[in-house]
Amino acid sequence: AKPVVAIVGRPNVGKSTLFNRIAGKRISIVEDVPGVTRDRIYAEAEWLGRKFIMIDTGGLEPYAQDIIMQQMKRQAEIAIETANVIIFVVDGQEGVTATDQEVANMLRKTSKKVILACNKIDSQKYKDNIYEFYNLGIGEPIGISAGQALGLGDLLDEVVKLF
Ligand code: GDP
Ligand code: MG
Repeated sequence: AKPVVAIVGRPNVGKSTLFNRIAGKRISIVEDVPGVTRDRIYAEAEWLGRKFIMIDTGGLEPYAQDIIMQQMKRQAEIAIETANVIIFVVDGQEGVTATDQEVANMLRKTSKKVILACNKIDSQKYKDNIYEFYNLGIGEPIGISAGQALGLGDLLDEVVKLF
């Protein structure tokens, strides 16, 4: 069976943008409204000749904040159960939030391998923003920009190492 990689994180950090970049096509819906990923979405991907299944997670609709939170947690739980490797995405321009902390707490309880992707590092200007994410206790943050397609090779190198 192909390894499964799940992309988790709070709404609007760029999970679907990252998913589409890795999938090489636009499958997930990217919206400025937080939480818009209409279901769990799967795609097959490949890096360095290693094939894997990728899962994008997110809320169903932009409901009230507490519902988004519940949705996100449930989706993340399912993804954590299913996945071999989890990519935990955070927003390097916004910094650590209480929701990031909650997701980190969930992920630290699993025995699954987790990679911390600090997204929206669009230019050199943001490169030092990654350091505060060490506080999440998930390990070394990898700076990426899904929007600008930066750092994705380095991220995927780390992902396939864990299969
Ligand atoms: P999701 O809710 O986590 O799936 O996030 P989306 O992929 O829908 O993206 C949320 C917003 O962040 C959209 O406006 C994206 O265009 C934007 N975004 C995604 N990746 C980046 C990035 O690397 N840099 C910047 N500046 N914006 C990004
Ligand atoms: Mg999404």
